[in-house]
Amino acid sequence: VKVPLQRIDAYRWRIPQSYQPEMRVPGIVYADDVLIEQIRQDNSLQQVANVATLPGIVGYSLAMPDIHWGYGFPVGGVAATDVETGVVSPGGIGFDINCGVRLLATGLSYQEVKGKADRLADELFQHLPSGVGGKGMRSLSERELREVMVRGAAWAVEQGYGFPEDLEVTEEGGCLTGASPEAVSTTAIQRGVNQLGSLGAGNHFCEVQVVDYIYDEEAARALGLYKDQVVTTIHCGSRGFGHQIAEDYIRVAESKQKDFGFKLVDRQLACLPLRSDLGKSYLGAMACGANFAWANRQLLMHGVRQAFSRVFGRQARPAEMPLVYDVCHNIAKIEEYRINGELQRVCVHRKGATRAFPAGHPAVPEKYRAVGQPVLIPGDMGRYSFVLVGAPGSMEQSFGTTCHGAGRQRSRTAAKKAISSKDLMAQLEAKGIAVRVHSKGLLAEEAPLAYKDAEQVVRVVHNAGLARLVVRLRPIIVVKG
Ligand code: 5GP
Ligand code: MN
Ligand code: MN
Repeated sequence: VKVPLQRIDAYRWRIPQSYQPEMRVPGIVYADDVLIEQIRQDNSLQQVANVATLPGIVGYSLAMPDIHWGYGFPVGGVAATDVETGVVSPGGIGFDINCGVRLLATGLSYQEVKGKADRLADELFQHLPSGVGGKGMRSLSERELREVMVRGAAWAVEQGYGFPEDLEVTEEGGCLTGASPEAVSTTAIQRGVNQLGSLGAGNHFCEVQVVDYIYDEEAARALGLYKDQVVTTIHCGSRGFGHQIAEDYIRVAESKQKDFGFKLVDRQLACLPLRSDLGKSYLGAMACGANFAWANRQLLMHGVRQAFSRVFGRQARPAEMPLVYDVCHNIAKIEEYRINGELQRVCVHRKGATRAFPAGHPAVPEKYRAVGQPVLIPGDMGRYSFVLVGAPGSMEQSFGTTCHGAGRQRSRTAAKKAISSKDLMAQLEAKGIAVRVHSKGLLAEEAPLAYKDAEQVVRVVHNAGLARLVVRLRPIIVVKG
């Protein structure tokens, strides 16, 4: 069956609640005419409808324009559930808990970096541990890992990886409260102790980019960004540690569906009542995973600052290399929204979706409060990435949320068939992009042709009023796991 779509306007489509009797709310999909055709290629629209059946879901089951198939929930999916009557679905956060992006600015221009790009690429590759299951920059005792679980990026700063200023421009200050290490399995702990400060493999990366185009001068200035400036993006999450937490709770949730009296349309939606002990345990464990991810990105950023210092003789200080922002895109948060005129506390699942609070919101760092929360959108290694700020429409339409990337368009297998890693490497080098990759065979799976056009994706969220375009970034160095 083809999932029915009713056009709302140029950027919005509705999946009517009547499509399936189990749906409790309609679905809303953000896409233009071109993207919606790409989205129809996989089963993700059916997943949007499936999510709409979750107990306690409020408003809509939402899909951003970068949506594609994922475990249970689509990647690019957003769902808010009532804290009293609703559920949390571990698959609706995803396996990489608090996968996210951080953007680091430098005071260097493209002209200054150009001639030293190869050296910088080597330094970055050496200083950022990568590869599947690879060891991180810092091995931890179990006691230290507990500290990381509870304190997140603040622990890393205290250990000398970065500066207190960094925390002010990290979502949640780099620490989600309510972390409960008791809710984390020994298997997860075993996987976590030697992975802090590592990129992993595949979709995660460190990319040096140039501010290539400015859409909004005022907002760019507020974020400290200007034309031809060199910046660095880190995309990474909670590694095997978060993955194990997700696996553990998905397994438990699946085994308990009958006990909770749930009859779900897809077993991958397995969920836990927010008021249940298991639901609370999951949120406590998820916070541990999220905090690990923030500490992880904090260590990686430290490695980036060191690499720049070595090549350019700069001090690795925030004054020279300020963190612009760090934002998560795989997480659940308890937040309050006005729904049908009434203030309601909900658990917002963002899976491959980014928080996008508008100007004036108290959770936006003071220095950005006048323009809105920075939103960091990686595109692909050959084209562009984008920085936006949250817009008021996100509060009215999407539980303060926007897209998280370009979104996959071709499967890994199809991408590998379409281009070899060797040819891709040659193409990128010909464009003046220095590439360093740990697992060479995996590069083709991440080729630009594997992804939708990020520019098209961000246009949709900009035009729909969820977030506002600020700058475009062009890659010059790509470091992949
Ligand atoms: P995800 O978190 O869903 O794995 O990835 C988020 C987004 O990162 C993807 O949708 C894609 O647009 C983007 N992305 C993946 N690989 C790269 C890369 O090497 N460079 C850049 N700039 N973006 C990438
Ligand atoms: Mn990610
Ligand atoms: Mn990830």
